[in-house]
Amino acid sequence: MGNIGTVTLVGAGPGDPELLTLKAARLIGSADVVVYDRLVAAEILAMIPPEAERVNVGKSTHHHPVPQEEINEILVRYAQAGRNVVRLKGGDPFIFGRGCEETARLAEAGVPFAVVPGITAAQGASASTGVPLTHRGLARSVRYITGHCKADEMLDLDWAGLADPETTLVFYMGKATIRLIATQLMAHGLEGSTPVMAVASATTAQEQRLDSRLDRIEGDLARSDLESPVIFIVGAVAGLSGRTSAGCLCTAVLADPGAERCHA
Ligand code: SAH
Repeated sequence: MGNIGTVTLVGAGPGDPELLTLKAARLIGSADVVVYDRLVAAEILAMIPPEAERVNVGKSTHHHPVPQEEINEILVRYAQAGRNVVRLKGGDPFIFGRGCEETARLAEAGVPFAVVPGITAAQGASASTGVPLTHRGLARSVRYITGHCKADEMLDLDWAGLADPETTLVFYMGKATIRLIATQLMAHGLEGSTPVMAVASATTAQEQRLDSRLDRIEGDLARSDLESPVIFIVGAVAGLSGRTSAGCLCTAVLADPGAERCHA
């Protein structure tokens, strides 16, 4: 066997190409092969050298995504053929990105690999809306949660543990299950008035923001024209106005009157 190549799992960030790390940009620009997902922005794909091979393993409207096991084998095959492979994933490869299933298979096959982090959707949506994920007096912790569940299964989360008014909850892949998420969080103690912010295509030119609350989010979302991908930020911080015309977070009415206010 000739020289073995390397596979680098690279986080492509939430959409805005300028949110790539320098390392990600360098690796994309010098790859022999780029294996990429559906959520990677076109501007980022445009950075792939013309002579490099592109392998689209993501979903499109007419095609199903390539199964994970097959993606794993594609990576191993290219590396064993001596190619330097960039495995490009939306956001961060290790946050709801199945990155470790790939690194585990690469390790098993003796393929050297590395991981380059990316800005995850939660961070992107927070920054682009100006809404913080933690805030003194409002949110002492933040949790990233998957809202995804298989078609015939219930979303089985630790609802009692999640329903903490001082924790910001960020739901990925929650568009189809938001009714259940909201109902369960209220059933486990969160107020119906708890703010919910939905952000679609965060950090891109198509970004849209919907402000709602737990007891209204289902209807508000149904009436909205928000398109995937959508992330939900639940908790007092989502009640902050974020980016206002004055560019100041502090004009927001804080949900908790006892909370510390910031002064512009
Ligand atoms: N590894 C990715 C997450 C993949 S799961 C990351 O770290 O961001 C896919 C989910 O991510 C989508 O269903 C959506 O909830 C969220 N997502 C990804 N990009 C997004 C964006 N630009 N705006 C809003 N949500 C996004």
